[in-house]
Amino acid sequence: MDKKDMKSWNQKELEAFLLELGEKSFRAKQIYSWLHVKHIDSFEEMTNISQKLKEKLVNTCKLTILKKIEVQCSNIDGTRKYLFELEDGNMIESVWMHYKHGNSVCISSQVGCRMGCRFCASTLDGLLRNLTPAEMLDQIYQIQKDIGERVSHVVVMGMGEPLDNYENLLKFIQLLSDEKGLNISQRNITVSTCGIVPNMRQLAKEKLQITLALSLHAPSQKKRLLLMPVANKYEIHQVIDACNYYFVQTGRRITFEYSLIGGVNDCEEDARQLAKLLQGMNCHINLIPINPVKERDFKQSQSQTILDFKNKLEKYGINVTIRREMGRDIDGACGQLRKRFSER
Ligand code: SAH
Repeated sequence: MDKKDMKSWNQKELEAFLLELGEKSFRAKQIYSWLHVKHIDSFEEMTNISQKLKEKLVNTCKLTILKKIEVQCSNIDGTRKYLFELEDGNMIESVWMHYKHGNSVCISSQVGCRMGCRFCASTLDGLLRNLTPAEMLDQIYQIQKDIGERVSHVVVMGMGEPLDNYENLLKFIQLLSDEKGLNISQRNITVSTCGIVPNMRQLAKEKLQITLALSLHAPSQKKRLLLMPVANKYEIHQVIDACNYYFVQTGRRITFEYSLIGGVNDCEEDARQLAKLLQGMNCHINLIPINPVKERDFKQSQSQTILDFKNKLEKYGINVTIRREMGRDIDGACGQLRKRFSER
């Protein structure tokens, strides 16, 4: 029998399971707190639970605890990149970043990815599997334990396409923002997508307060097709429409991510077209200097080109920032640490 993944359950589900075992419902509260507040490593640590119940739990359930395999620390800004091993031996990456406003963790949502973006290292070997809600949560729990400080912000921008793992993502967000758990405000959670239109629209209807980040990377359908195969399925204007819908439904301003690639999407005309595409939208653009991946031959834009691009957008009245590169001296880009590890 497959053991039940109890860390992926909300309190109601946990309660239903315990009632089935013939236990009282207040046990759910206690166990939930061990899992999601105290972040225990074994059933043994549940000190207010009887030995008999612990045995039942050991026999029927698993805890889902990620194993820390490697941590790389940046000497520049203290950013820490973690390589974790899952129960089945698969590896994923997460990143911890310290900002003035708090501690932020960037988590993975899948092992690998099937979206095929040309500049991305996470997708080189395709998708292996989805992460469970518990596996997404435990990246944050383990890092918080390792650092000894509270995590205040979470971005789902690591390996994988979160909207390609929709149900688990939703469950993860509910558990993460649960006041009886880690209680991270939904406003401090960002989910980044390459633009899976039906799922963006579905997410809008959930009326969460999370920030949606859209990986745009091109000002036109023609250029986007060269970089992102997902554009074959969802045309750029459909994606923008879905962003507008998200804003109308949730009142949350969209963040657009735009990775600048030298000679590909960084000229004046690109900036002009981009401004036109986003005209009148309540949004914010994050310019990201591309992180070169050795399997691909894309180059970073010159720093002057990046500044010119930003200034041009500002002239059109667009809200724009250049993303500060965190952890430049460690394997920065998504999927690179895992890739190097598997090559060793
Ligand atoms: N699948 C999601 C989230 C994961 S990637 C998405 O596509 O949004 C997080 C962001 O990093 C995305 O905007 C992605 O396009 C970008 N990215 C991936 N590889 C990169 C690289 N080598 N350099 C710069 N940005 C990259």
